[in-house]
Amino acid sequence: MTNASLPRGRDGIDQDQFLTILSREDALARFEAALFPRNLGSEQRKLADALGCALAEDVVSPIDVPPFDRSNVDGFAVRSADLAAATELSPVALRLNDEVIACGVAPVRPVLSGTATPIATGGPIPRGADAVVMVEHTQPAGARAIEVRRAASPGQFVSFAGSDIARGEALLRAGTVIGSREIGMLAACGLADVAVARSVRVAVISTGDELVQPGEPLRPAAIYDSNGAIVAAAINENGGQAVFYGAVPDDEAQLEATLRKALAASDMVVLSGGTSKGAGDVSHRIIARLGRPGIIAHGVALKPGKPLCLAVCDEKPVVILPGFPTSAMFTFHDMIVPVLRRMAGLPPRSDATVTAKVPVRIASELGRTEFVMVSLVEGADGLIAYPSGKGSGAITSFSQADGFLRIDALADQLPAGSDAEIRLFTPHVRVPDLVIIGSHCSGLDLVTAQLSRAGLAVRSIAVGSLGGLAAARRGECDLAPIHLFDDRSETYNTPFLSQGLALVPGWRRMQGIVFQEGDRRFEGLSAHQAVRAAIADPHCIMVNRNQGAGTRILIDRLLGEARPDGYWNQPRSHNAVAAAVAQGRADWGMTIAPVAHACGLGFIPLAEEHYDFALVQARKDRRAVKAFLDALASPEARAALERAGFRPA
Ligand code: AMP
Ligand code: MG
Repeated sequence: MTNASLPRGRDGIDQDQFLTILSREDALARFEAALFPRNLGSEQRKLADALGCALAEDVVSPIDVPPFDRSNVDGFAVRSADLAAATELSPVALRLNDEVIACGVAPVRPVLSGTATPIATGGPIPRGADAVVMVEHTQPAGARAIEVRRAASPGQFVSFAGSDIARGEALLRAGTVIGSREIGMLAACGLADVAVARSVRVAVISTGDELVQPGEPLRPAAIYDSNGAIVAAAINENGGQAVFYGAVPDDEAQLEATLRKALAASDMVVLSGGTSKGAGDVSHRIIARLGRPGIIAHGVALKPGKPLCLAVCDEKPVVILPGFPTSAMFTFHDMIVPVLRRMAGLPPRSDATVTAKVPVRIASELGRTEFVMVSLVEGADGLIAYPSGKGSGAITSFSQADGFLRIDALADQLPAGSDAEIRLFTPHVRVPDLVIIGSHCSGLDLVTAQLSRAGLAVRSIAVGSLGGLAAARRGECDLAPIHLFDDRSETYNTPFLSQGLALVPGWRRMQGIVFQEGDRRFEGLSAHQAVRAAIADPHCIMVNRNQGAGTRILIDRLLGEARPDGYWNQPRSHNAVAAAVAQGRADWGMTIAPVAHACGLGFIPLAEEHYDFALVQARKDRRAVKAFLDALASPEARAALERAGFRPA
């Protein structure tokens, strides 16, 4: 399709906007070339404020450490020559000098031949002495003398001046990142402050009419600004000093004023949102006139993260991250962190990596470097990496994932069974003690809460009932929660078990019709009557469920051949159905009782669904599995399930 033949409207503009998409490598190279080399500048910092900074110059020790010859033990300062003949059988007697050298006390009397001076650990060695004998190797001989039962070599138990660090010796090199050890070394040399690479002030701006700051009430159609908080934290984690300018509405004049103020006061500006090409997306237009050379890349072959915009305005990086939090984070870590760390004088990040097998095929778009978040579990022969992303709009994927893998721009998929390198979000893998893969239910948390309190790490990965059964057959989990109805036998779950799997009864969930409290069309009716009435009313809109959901089977049975308005709206969760009805986008739908009650909706019970567990029998003796089964049977969990509206089996 040529550019001219593109349809007008948002899609057409989008296409136009991103015709010049750079590869990830190209975009990063051009961005860095426009920014480096540059003078980083340095600043003096108090030791207490220097943690995590990079040293701007070599530090040379101004003193000897220790500053004097020092005793390493409690004992007596002696002349080693006096003790050459000392043994257990023929101890040598030494007269004690009239002085005790404590820590911090400068000695005044010399140690002459045939004498010794009591000295504490850390005390300065007196004139004449060349060794220390430990108090344990002596015994008193009258009031003012001791007997020594073993010889002492010269220098024994003495730390000589400058033996730790000599005056003029290079203590730390420029570029070293200051940790507690470095702070200790600097303090030991008496340095109270130190020259570090100047901190990079980074302005953080969120954009969007829909954004509300955490802590404020959420108005209709608004969402909380999560990027502002995440981006600021990630900047501080990587050597920058974030200054948050709040969320600015999609108003060109207001945004330009904020941007100019932020740019003048900072070394770098990071915006999020408004980088696509919607009517309200104005950020990139402003940046184009903010300073030279301007936009370096707008559109990078990343997934997620294509709309990333990189600019340099008067030598300062100005970046627009995509609005979706997951996209914002991946692009920030992959493309912005390297630049930020270089500006802060810090070495590149060294994230820990592990190799893991991918159990399912992951499709990937050809031509874009793709990031996929994964959860790690222990398989029969090594680590297994489950893709755990919920799409670029999801923020929770981050906390549940252990790391991510990268699919090359030239690959169109990662086949099932491939080995992949996983970049970890944390320094070490922590393989969970209990792995639950299958259908998700809010009741699950009420059972696993006990395990978490006992210090067991539980990982639950929501892939639906059938996905859970497949994982259980491959031995990748301990338990697969399922709620599958078998039409032929009219029973739940048992007909779906294969060899090696045993059924552990879970709980029952009442499925039913939800509607807004007070809706006269449904109140007082049975589920069958309510659905018949809804079908008969042309103004009534339903919300359906996705194909394959247990709930969908029940809806289809009630509807028969009917296809009421809203039938094709097919969200994937109980909560989405309740939200659609609560917000008036639909008049009725089917969900489970606990979710309906939590939303304050009217509810007509229809049928109880069985939510059970397929237990991988080979794993039934593991400590965490036993703990789960105990928790499931415990009065505490059963009571919690009942309170939430479930009926324990
Ligand atoms: P945009 O890039 O402005 O078109 O935004 C894309 C999506 O990301 C929209 O759904 C926005 O509501 C969402 N979004 C934009 N900024 C933020 C933010 N600061 N926090 C959370 N979501 C955001
Ligand atoms: Mg926006």
